[in-house]
Amino acid sequence: MNISFTALGHGECEQCESFKLHDHDQNDLQPDCSICNAFAIHKQKYSEARIQYNDHKENPLPDTFYYSADMEKVIMMPRMEMFKRNANSGRVVVEEMKQEDFYEWEDNSSTSKINRTVPRPYMKDMVEVVATRGKLTLSYRTRFTSDETHVMDFTKKKLTKKNIVKRPNSIPNLRGISTNRKSQITQNLLELMPENRRPFWVNLVENDKSADLRTTVDD
Ligand SMILES: [Zn+2]
Ligand SMILES: [Zn+2]
Repeated sequence: MNISFTALGHGECEQCESFKLHDHDQNDLQPDCSICNAFAIHKQKYSEARIQYNDHKENPLPDTFYYSADMEKVIMMPRMEMFKRNANSGRVVVEEMKQEDFYEWEDNSSTSKINRTVPRPYMKDMVEVVATRGKLTLSYRTRFTSDETHVMDFTKKKLTKKNIVKRPNSIPNLRGISTNRKSQITQNLLELMPENRRPFWVNLVENDKSADLRTTVDD
């Protein structure tokens, strides 16, 4: 199966979108503009990510599976239906994420530990995170082109290897939005949306028990 990256379209990434909406364009990057600067770094990172993705596809290590997901798109649209799995045959398989693939992990991170870490780790800066079986730390890189690795020791003191052997349950139901809210959106807004966005709203799960995020903070 041959899958290639499609060019990112409008509204598919928050950073590209905010860049497009401001006054300068790609051929006119202003060194003293924070949006231009953020975009320049973003562009380098996504270009490097594509090189990495193609390299994994073309030169896979034996016995290794590569998973890739577009985190920028997830931020823009809460929809992670697909995972690209790059088997070592060089084949790319697209897998659908199902309800049972999401778990109710307990939050055992320590905010004070994270805040004391230098540099403070931010997810937006990470391009690669490595978890190693048996370790309570994660290591990450902020650029694909640099070998500099940061180690993150971020778990609560009480957490030991012994008490995390238990795998949590899958989430019991999908979050969704209320039936009423969904029908408002599909009746009033669907027509205004580009056609490729409509199935997301049409297929969105209904769940009247979920908090309305416009008025409540969900936890
Ligand atoms: Zn972007
Ligand atoms: Zn600018």
